[in-house]
Amino acid sequence: MKKIIFAFLLMIFSLPAFAITVEVKKAGYNEKIISEIGYNLLNSNRIPCKVTFFVIDNTKLPNASTYYSDGVIAVYDSVVKYAKDENEIAGILAHEISHAVDFRQGIFKGTFSFFNFLNSKNYEYKADKRAVDYMVKANYNPIALITALNRIAPEYRYDIFLSHPLTSRRLATIYEYIYTKYPEYLVQNEYQNDPVYQNFLITSQENRKRLEEKIKNNSNKKVKYL
Ligand SMILES: [Zn+2]
Repeated sequence: MKKIIFAFLLMIFSLPAFAITVEVKKAGYNEKIISEIGYNLLNSNRIPCKVTFFVIDNTKLPNASTYYSDGVIAVYDSVVKYAKDENEIAGILAHEISHAVDFRQGIFKGTFSFFNFLNSKNYEYKADKRAVDYMVKANYNPIALITALNRIAPEYRYDIFLSHPLTSRRLATIYEYIYTKYPEYLVQNEYQNDPVYQNFLITSQENRKRLEEKIKNNSNKKVKYL
């Protein structure tokens, strides 16, 4: 028996020290990065309402959602895993912060703002556009909202029964918004060589052609994206 205990102790003490530090760093890492980026977005944009970030551990699908009742933004830890950089995490959080702001507005401090869901697709477009503004104000590159969504949001065939519009339409609308309001990010595009961004350029060809037509014709009409 003594021999076994001794062998066990020897095993513990012979473990490389870094094994323990890696574990400590790993626990709480996602919480730290989410909270740093989240509060940076809130403070840079002077968001007047209270928002809380919670990280849900051990999830396979990257996702985030906002609760209308208490301003809590729940972020799946896989968002950090799938995101290429801080800009992409900022894109996901900025979109949710926009929902949190909307939920606070309306009757009885937004108690009834869940009626937003009746008009959910418009709220999604609004949250994407506002996310771009929040990102720019907090010094994040808004192109990362395109790459983040292209990376993690699935594409369905139709959106009639979905709360969110088709991802291709969201991406095209974000692209148009950046083109109109912050074109400098498209000129100095640090994501140019990113395969996910290049994939967006390939898959959005038809939609970008429609935008080009609109610009050429100096039209104010809303572009019908695919
Ligand atoms: Zn949303």
